[in-house]
Amino acid sequence: MNTISINTLVRENILKLKPYISFRDHNEFNDPTFLDANESPFGKWNRYPDSTQRKLKTRLSELKNLSPGQIAIGNGSDELIDLIIKIFCEPKKDSILMMNPSFAMYGFYATINENRVLQLNLDENFDIVKDDFLKIVQKESIKVFFLCSPNNPTGNSTEDIEFYLQNFNGIVVVDEAYIEFSGKKSSLELLAKYPNLIVLQTFSKAWGIAGARVGVAYASEEIIQLINTVKAPYNVNALSQELILNALEDENKLKENVRDIVAEREWLRDQFKGIACIGKIFPTDANFFLIRLKDVDNVYVQMLEQEILTSRRDPAIPGCIRINIGNRQENEKLVTLLKNI
Ligand code: PMP
Repeated sequence: MNTISINTLVRENILKLKPYISFRDHNEFNDPTFLDANESPFGKWNRYPDSTQRKLKTRLSELKNLSPGQIAIGNGSDELIDLIIKIFCEPKKDSILMMNPSFAMYGFYATINENRVLQLNLDENFDIVKDDFLKIVQKESIKVFFLCSPNNPTGNSTEDIEFYLQNFNGIVVVDEAYIEFSGKKSSLELLAKYPNLIVLQTFSKAWGIAGARVGVAYASEEIIQLINTVKAPYNVNALSQELILNALEDENKLKENVRDIVAEREWLRDQFKGIACIGKIFPTDANFFLIRLKDVDNVYVQMLEQEILTSRRDPAIPGCIRINIGNRQENEKLVTLLKNI
């Protein structure tokens, strides 16, 4: 159990704010006449979306066995990362900590908010060195630690997440954007034990709905209330809310998609064996591979010539590219090219 008081971590100006309350969204009506929001009376999408995303939260709370008050929905998890930094990190004063290498958006939003971005360098297997973590959190005034598991772009998961929760007096954000592909346990079950934990998930990866831009934060009701306070009232549009609600009707589809992508990942892993230009394939729990190439410049250019787009990580991760799992046709195109280099 961690007894951190969340209020002491929050920026003072944020603590003073009250959440935006739409009267319409916070009351029940039988046959309302809506003349309160300067909308058009015409059309199917003429109304503002539900600012509380009530239906979506109710459904997610059933699926995850949490209360609706423990759920915040964002315009992608990107928005939630931004809001978390804004809530806890005083510009020009506080720092965030992120793994290196990891997902760039943590640093992006922290920099925009004028916070220092401290890097926790991963070891040669892309694991956190616990001693390095202890040293840096003892020395620096860090408000938020972004722990990405499985990590983008390395693909591996972090074990023993409780260690980081127990040894840090700030907010730990466990970004589980790729958790469905990992077969590993989510950190959601740790929420009951750690008031300083925020778990991020998204509909952009395993759910296959990146176009809708919907991400979810799960945390204590206290933290969720803060996110609700700073978010734009209508941050998740009505089409996306409806789309996601429909998708949630069929969880089997998610399981099928995950199963197919994981099977395709293993097929690709097999195909990569023995390909001359590949130096190393790093272990992955996600829907992508980080691969070290013997001549990254050459391979990258040849891929581009065939309009195969991958994510170049060199020089930050020397010689490496990140390739995500496509469908069989796309994967075959990639393999054929790599075999011919
Ligand atoms: N976290 C990680 C680790 C990611 O890789 C991504 C997307 N690349 C995101 C968050 C953002 O996802 P969303 O589409 O929900 O904004």
